[in-house]
Amino acid sequence: MTTVSRRTLLKAAGSASVAAAIGMVAPAARLRAAQPALPMIGRIVQMPKGDVTVHTYIAPAASFLVTSHIIETPNQLVVVDAQFLQTAAREVRAYAESLGKPIDRVIVSHAHPDHWSGTNIFEGVPVVSTAAVAAGIQADIDSGGIQQRIGLVGESEVPATPLVPEGSLEAGTLTIDGVNMEVQVVANAESPEQAVLRLPDQGVIVLQDLLYSDSHFFPGVDRANWVSVLEGLRTEGGFDTLLAGHGLPASGGELTQAIKYLNFANEVAASATSADEVIAALTAEFPGYDVEGILQFWGLFFQ
Ligand SMILES: [Zn+2]
Repeated sequence: MTTVSRRTLLKAAGSASVAAAIGMVAPAARLRAAQPALPMIGRIVQMPKGDVTVHTYIAPAASFLVTSHIIETPNQLVVVDAQFLQTAAREVRAYAESLGKPIDRVIVSHAHPDHWSGTNIFEGVPVVSTAAVAAGIQADIDSGGIQQRIGLVGESEVPATPLVPEGSLEAGTLTIDGVNMEVQVVANAESPEQAVLRLPDQGVIVLQDLLYSDSHFFPGVDRANWVSVLEGLRTEGGFDTLLAGHGLPASGGELTQAIKYLNFANEVAASATSADEVIAALTAEFPGYDVEGILQFWGLFFQ
């Protein structure tokens, strides 16, 4: 991927120039053919990688720029994460269907509802996660998470019948339609457990919520461990396209920025006496970062 400043990228996002700037959008004719007829609330970035094309769907800021990725292999599609809003999940499915290939499976990266709430829209397709992530989703449902979210976004944007993934995903190598994929399971970073998917031959790593791209981060479970996971990935390398759980796809340099953000958050949180203090410090240090709403979660740590 061509190096381009992330500010330029953000400014260009949504316009045709983003395609030229980062060289990762398919020809216009294909894009037109691929778009559902109605205006979408989300936007899509396409990244051709030889035989594989990665399509990233990014929800609006009101839905925290949460992403779904569609990995298009020669004959199939693999979807990673199923969105928060039902409208967004429907757009991901409609877009996937417009590509004219069957969805082999939907992989849910972790148990936060912004990544799985829309799984019901993929009924009829195998939806998988690790066993611990599936258990986390079930626990959320059992403890009234759905009702809580109806209060936040209204009944029409929350699944009437939530779909819990089958907990069959494990660390290891998968070959799907001739494309090698590696699943890594990371514990106690942004969430209690998260699957990371790597396409070694395409230089792509699907980091989901281990990386927030030009957006504020969720406070997470264990930030020190989260930093060491990111440092390990940076040392390992082998990828040039990083797919974030929130925001635009990024290049390798974004790992360094993420480590800086988390270390700063950790330092501030260690001496702060209120969530507001942490939020003020983060917004001052990282001006222009999107999704400020996610910072409200710092309130959970200062109750
Ligand atoms: Zn998330």
